[in-house]
Amino acid sequence: MSKNDMLLELIARCEDACRGAFERIEDVALHNQRKVLEAFRKNFVSDRHLKGSTGYGYDDIGRDTLARVYSDVFCTDSAIVSPNITSGTQALTVALFGLLRPNDTLLSVSGKPYDTLHKVISGENIGSLKDYNIQYGEIALLDDDFDYETIAKYISNIVPKVVLVTRSRGYSWRNALSAKSIGKLTEFIKNISKNIIIMVDNCYGEFVESAEPTQAGVDIAVGSLIKNIGGGLAPSGGYIVGKEEYIEQISYRLTAPSIGREVGSYYGGYHYHYQGLFLAPHIVMNALKGSILFGKVFTELGYKTFPPYDSECYDIIRSIKFDTKEELILFCKMIQEISPIDSHVSPEPWDMPGYSEQVIMAAGTFVQGASIELSADAPIKAPYIAYLQGGLTYEHAKLAVEHCARALISYRN
Ligand SMILES: *Cc1c(COP(=O)(O)O)cnc(C)c1O
Repeated sequence: MSKNDMLLELIARCEDACRGAFERIEDVALHNQRKVLEAFRKNFVSDRHLKGSTGYGYDDIGRDTLARVYSDVFCTDSAIVSPNITSGTQALTVALFGLLRPNDTLLSVSGKPYDTLHKVISGENIGSLKDYNIQYGEIALLDDDFDYETIAKYISNIVPKVVLVTRSRGYSWRNALSAKSIGKLTEFIKNISKNIIIMVDNCYGEFVESAEPTQAGVDIAVGSLIKNIGGGLAPSGGYIVGKEEYIEQISYRLTAPSIGREVGSYYGGYHYHYQGLFLAPHIVMNALKGSILFGKVFTELGYKTFPPYDSECYDIIRSIKFDTKEELILFCKMIQEISPIDSHVSPEPWDMPGYSEQVIMAAGTFVQGASIELSADAPIKAPYIAYLQGGLTYEHAKLAVEHCARALISYRN
């Protein structure tokens, strides 16, 4: 058999082995599609809601209805959804500054928060939480779960105003946290003090499971619209969902104290935000299937990948470990090369704002940098791990598996 046939046969065998995992994901997608559809129907979404607004945006029904649809999807009282929030980092920043006051404490219980938040929390003289005298504590995970003993000890000493949980793995070799385990943590903390606000960085977690952390009792969940929940169509934005009293506080930070959600126009209209949300359960399913196939094929090729292809996924990311920096960079270059946009461009490691090491990012995407589209990124440091995510269609992921595997096989020979 030629090398070409052998690789195609390997991919076909891997695909067969993934069927069971695929079926579980299809069930989750059906459940989430029903949830989203019901939210649209309940709020009588119409053509007029898809249109934009100008100026202050008073009574922008597209914006207000979109927020209600999000609240219903997350089963919360309230939501902020805005195309004017520039990124997930900004959404998280607005939420933190909306809730915390000088001398309050923020406690992260899932180890280090996502890289871009490090300076938001403790940067010097840049308007960070630290600059406002907001204290910060951090407790690492213990065997991929919360370290309950240390958390209880910490809280008996200092009562935090906000507890932050990062659902996704970030740049670390661990699985993401399930909504169920976040629910258990929430119950544990609320039993100590029900006034502690539990906030989840929900980036990459939306629609991966049938329930969101907000359904498991957390107070606030925050994410980016150019990841899972934008369904590949939302051109920009962020969301913050949760309890009304907290969302109100956050809204005063988003625009201005006392003005809050009364203003905020968007001339471009909300068509893609609604349609992206409607498609998101299906798109997330495609991304997960692609991620699982990558996991299985690269395991067969002798690489370590995480999580195991047949285990439950709690975010859309696939970690793949390479022996050398060269292989890692080659992998990212091949993801770019097999993309619909900018396939002729070659990504290079660079000093991205907000990250401490050089990072290489492959994102040949319709929406610039959207990581619900097939993309890969990696900090350039040992161990050499690529974080692969997204994929609007499973077929694209399958072609990409073949393209990347072929390049790495020929590099090794
Ligand atoms: C992407 C991400 C962020 C930040 O979102 P940006 O849109 O890149 O600013 C925060 N937390 C997690 C877990 C993420 O994956």
